[in-house]
Amino acid sequence: MEIKEIYKLYKEHYLVDTDTRNIRKNTLFFALKGEKFNGNLFAKEALKQGALFAIVDEDLYQNHPNIILVDNVLKILQQLANYHRKILDIPIIGLTGSNGKTTTKELINAVLSTTYKTSATKGNLNNHIGVPLTLLSMTPKTEIGIVEMGANHKKEIAFLCTICEPDFGYITNFGKAHLEGFGGIEGVIEGKSELYAYLEKNNKSAFINPDDVIQVEKSKKLKTIPFNPNLKYLEVNPFVKLSLNSTNIQSHLIGQYNYTNIAIACTIGHYFKISDKKIKEAIENYIPDNNRSQIIQKEANKIILDAYNANPTSMKAALENFESIKAPNKTVILGDMFELGKTSLEEHQTIVKLVEKLHFDDCYFVGEIFHQTTTKNMQFKTFEDLLAHLKNNPLNLQSILIKGSRGMRLERLLEIIN
Ligand code: ATP
Ligand code: MG
Repeated sequence: MEIKEIYKLYKEHYLVDTDTRNIRKNTLFFALKGEKFNGNLFAKEALKQGALFAIVDEDLYQNHPNIILVDNVLKILQQLANYHRKILDIPIIGLTGSNGKTTTKELINAVLSTTYKTSATKGNLNNHIGVPLTLLSMTPKTEIGIVEMGANHKKEIAFLCTICEPDFGYITNFGKAHLEGFGGIEGVIEGKSELYAYLEKNNKSAFINPDDVIQVEKSKKLKTIPFNPNLKYLEVNPFVKLSLNSTNIQSHLIGQYNYTNIAIACTIGHYFKISDKKIKEAIENYIPDNNRSQIIQKEANKIILDAYNANPTSMKAALENFESIKAPNKTVILGDMFELGKTSLEEHQTIVKLVEKLHFDDCYFVGEIFHQTTTKNMQFKTFEDLLAHLKNNPLNLQSILIKGSRGMRLERLLEIIN
């Protein structure tokens, strides 16, 4: 069946689903295959749950009137998303970068949705499946789209751009994330800059942070829109405060690194003619979730939980921020950073050195890689070892920064720290 035909079916309700645990009535079910699952086996279940049609790529259901057999379900999903994107005549903002994409996406969405009907990436659905699903969640009512694009190797952003065809782009930063897949920081810069290459080729614009020398250098050949010059960083204590013209904005985001995430949201708000008052309200009402820089006041301790993810750049930013804020008895608990390839141990050792240079009262390192570093601080090979130690030596009256890679799941510490 041709894309045009599948599009007709999709257009009846603008619904697409890939998981039979959350099927919506009248949806099109795309039977994707993963390492551990094969959607093809769930096609009938999807129809039973209310899907109009199921798109499969294994010939398991001969001549079923509501099951459409194609060569490759994933490719069809991507093509359908691009076909839809071309019909949707709306501005789409594409975001990538090593850190801060989701936070930035949420902030931009908070600002733009004060005035427009927006549609943005849900959570972290930012890959070759998430980007098509994001586009297919947009309907003729959508006025502006905001699409997060993630990558852990080169050519990925270039590919996602061909699906989402952004009119505007923004790269949050070039940092040390996914070094393994990109082959070092140069690879990261090249990989993220694929967004600029797409924008240049298609005569579109990039928003840029004029203080980021790499952004300025790499975006030289294309149309750029710099941060609004009337934005000013004021302080972080512990939340970022800034001013926009004469309006002060008090955010709920910790860490100086969040200033640029807020600044781009304000800049885009202005670009789309939203008033300072509305921008201020949107930023001030935005509260982060999902373990991304949350402040949690427990009975005996205050926790900055940043356990959502970690890499050398965000780890350094979080540590320097923690050092700079006013808080009593600072303790840091750091977990391993994953996906760093050959330089992994070296990067962990650099963080250890940084921690030793900064002035914290106490520090705990946890994970197999941190365990191999040289330090005077406490090291634990496994999470269980750390847990056992904390059970016997409970933390009391501390301000605690918790940060580590997603796989370390350091949020589990919340159960043991009071
Ligand atoms: P992912 O790759 O998982 O999609 P992301 O790029 O969407 O991550 P966020 O989830 O927004 O990033 O933030 C993750 C963490 O990155 C934050 O908790 C914070 O520690 C750090 N971070 C956020 N913004 C920046 C920034 N501009 N520069 C450096 N680090 C940042
Ligand atoms: Mg994200």
